[in-house]
Parts: sequence; C-alpha cells; structure tokens
Amino acid sequence: MSAPPVERPVWRRFRPRRLSRAAAHVRAGGFAAIVDDRDSVQILLGLTEAGKLTELGLCALLTLEQRRFQRVKTGPAAGLALVRVRPRFRPAVLDWCARDTLYEGPTRTMPLDCTTCAACCHGADVRLDAHDLARFRAAGRRDLAGRAYVKRSRDGRVTLRLADDGRCQLLGPDKRCTIYEIRPGDCRAFVAGSEACLSARRETLGLRDGAAWDEILEAFDRGPRTRGP
Ligand code: SF4
Ligand code: SF4
Repeated sequence: MSAPPVERPVWRRFRPRRLSRAAAHVRAGGFAAIVDDRDSVQILLGLTEAGKLTELGLCALLTLEQRRFQRVKTGPAAGLALVRVRPRFRPAVLDWCARDTLYEGPTRTMPLDCTTCAACCHGADVRLDAHDLARFRAAGRRDLAGRAYVKRSRDGRVTLRLADDGRCQLLGPDKRCTIYEIRPGDCRAFVAGSEACLSARRETLGLRDGAAWDEILEAFDRGPRTRGP
C-alpha cells in the first residue's frame, strides 16, 4: 500500500504593500515571505485555532533556527504568525519562493513515500539524547550506544555514526529503518514535506521537490506560471 500524498504549503513572495494578499495566501494554507526594498525578509505563517504553529510551520521555523513568532494583533494579517528572518537565512527563504513559482495555488500535494525514499537517512546529523539511549537499552540493544554506532564529540554531542558512504548504518537495504520502533527522537521528528525533507531529497536524490533538476531548470527557462505580486 503506498503512502497517502502529503499536502504542503506553497511559498510566495510579497511586497509589504501587498500584505492583504499575503495574508489571504496564508489563510488558504500557504506560507508568505514579505520582502521589503532593503531585502529584509519576514515570514507569515498560519496558526491553529489553539494559536499554535502548524506542524510544517514549526518545521520551517526550526529550519531557520528560530522558535519564536509574534502573533499579529491588527491589520490584514491579524491572527497570523510573523517572524523576522535572520540575514543568513534570507537566501534560503527566497529560494523556497523561487522554487514554488512552479506551482499554482496556496498548497501543493506531493506523492512522498518514506518507505521508498530514505533520503533523510543519508548524511543525517542524528543527535541522540538520554531518552534515545534509554530506549535502546530497554529494547535490549545496548550495542546501539557503543562506538560502532555512536560518535561522541568533545562538546558532549552524541550522534549516530554514519557509514563511509554517508548513509545511516541502521538503514536496511530495502530503504527501511531496521530499528524503526526504537528510532531516535530526531528521526521521529522529521516530517515528510517539511523543508528539511525537501532539502534531504534534493541533496541525496537530486530531486528538487519531486522534479528532476533538468525538469526544474527547463521550467525556469520557460518562466514561472505564477508569481507573488
Ligand atoms: S526525506 Fe522526506 S519523504 Fe524521504 S524518507 Fe525522509 S521524510 Fe520521508
Ligand atoms: S535511525 Fe533509522 S530513521 Fe534514523 S537515520 Fe537511521 S535509518 Fe533513518
């Protein structure tokens, strides 16, 4: 049985004077980048009824190494989350917007099937914490905390040791995790359709959001179908 498709927000770039349009895009399920004349970037994300970020919104924020957002109180974006992007992450956000000019609408449905992908199990920086190590022990897999599988850095970081070809040693030949039931928290937190997922697929499989690179470049040559104003 194949995995159900994943619906992810489409990024659009807007000028500050188009805030109403940006807010409408976000309310319809997309993500918006508000870029001013000095190329400062703020992002606008949707919130749940409980006032929390959606799962993919939180993932996007974590990719930008931020956790906090400001809930807009007044104006067209009232009730949405606003975050100022740090300068070093601006190019990433603008790249997401450029990538998504290929797609119409505020969201995009992608046929992502983790059981045939495993891109995020290559070159992964999987940090292990005390809970992970306890889970290994409780499952009778003390070996997973040993040198063969684990790297301990001088700064105290404990991470999974990768094979020479960059893949996680715990990935089976069928592209499935051999310790799925007791996999580390970092692996559990990895969300299909998040920017981290798309980035892993790009780096490992050469797929930029499901399309092959030459397909993408061809599409860029043709010009975008839609653009944020
Ligand atoms: S990269 Fe994304 S689609 Fe592939 S296995 Fe990881 S979460 Fe699933
Ligand atoms: S532990 Fe499993 S899910 Fe995590 S990176 Fe390794 S193979 Fe992938």
